[in-house]
Amino acid sequence: MVRICILLLTAFAMSANASTKPQVLATVSIWADMARAIGGDFIEVEMIVPIGSDPHLYESTPSDLRKVNRADLILVNGLTFEGWLEKLIRSSGGQARQVLLTEGIEPIYNPEFKNATDPHAWMDPNNGIVYAQNIARALAALDPDHADQYRTRLENYLGDLRVVDAYIRSAVERISPEKRVLITSHDAFHYYGRRYGLEVKSLLGTSTEADVPSGSFLEIARLIRERSIPAIFIESTINPKLMRQLSTENNTRIGGKLYADSLGEEGSSASTYTGMLRSNTEVIANALAGDGAETRTRSPKRPDTSRGLMIFAAGLILALMFAAFFLLAKKPKQ
Ligand SMILES: [Zn+2]
Repeated sequence: MVRICILLLTAFAMSANASTKPQVLATVSIWADMARAIGGDFIEVEMIVPIGSDPHLYESTPSDLRKVNRADLILVNGLTFEGWLEKLIRSSGGQARQVLLTEGIEPIYNPEFKNATDPHAWMDPNNGIVYAQNIARALAALDPDHADQYRTRLENYLGDLRVVDAYIRSAVERISPEKRVLITSHDAFHYYGRRYGLEVKSLLGTSTEADVPSGSFLEIARLIRERSIPAIFIESTINPKLMRQLSTENNTRIGGKLYADSLGEEGSSASTYTGMLRSNTEVIANALAGDGAETRTRSPKRPDTSRGLMIFAAGLILALMFAAFFLLAKKPKQ
């Protein structure tokens, strides 16, 4: 009985101890996932913009102030992506260090607006490598006791990103060169398009704040008809109404939903950064290649070992509590 109580106490102490781990705050879900992959159980990760919300139009809430105050590190894309963050950090009075994830990446400049950069650098997994290295470096500096573990986990993660890069390259090769045109709601795919040889067009600019210019609508409609583009794509964080209108008026179909500024819901194929890149590529290649061979690009799902371990640990704690209760209940009254 004493042994069971000690085990229970240890389990509770371990869970209570969790709050002493480094607190990492990601502005959006994509680098929250990267940080979890690299930091594992050594850190705690929160994010500001919820899954499925548009970070370009985000309005911070009082609970964000609490998150900023709790954080030891804030992971930030920069390149004008999080226009709301500076005010949030100023009003929080927090002392958290900001980590600029795009440091070391050559940004794409917007040809229409001088000095305006395209923030969506993570859409190219080779840039994702730089994001991951920046995260690992910041974690090791914050928590030097686990620097070796962060380095090992980073190496594994970079391996995953290289596999995804090769997968995307081979999937795009299935699309005939004249059909390699990616038409989306907002301009989030230039880094992806540049890496894999896809021409990219969108209704909105690199931010979603402005209204759709009518010229852009007509230009894309003409492109779809002239090039017989088989499919255009909606995005998880943007109202699909205009894309649906483009599709019906120009005899092309909606090829599927893409993820750019947010991961997919938990449990979906796009719920991780690598999953998101694979899911997008699968949707794009299947729709534009038009060979109907959906299974050919379907990537094998990897079991999520860390989640499995957590479920196992929770089950073990429950079983121990149950056993303790059972033993106490069965103990004969004296
Ligand atoms: Zn965007």
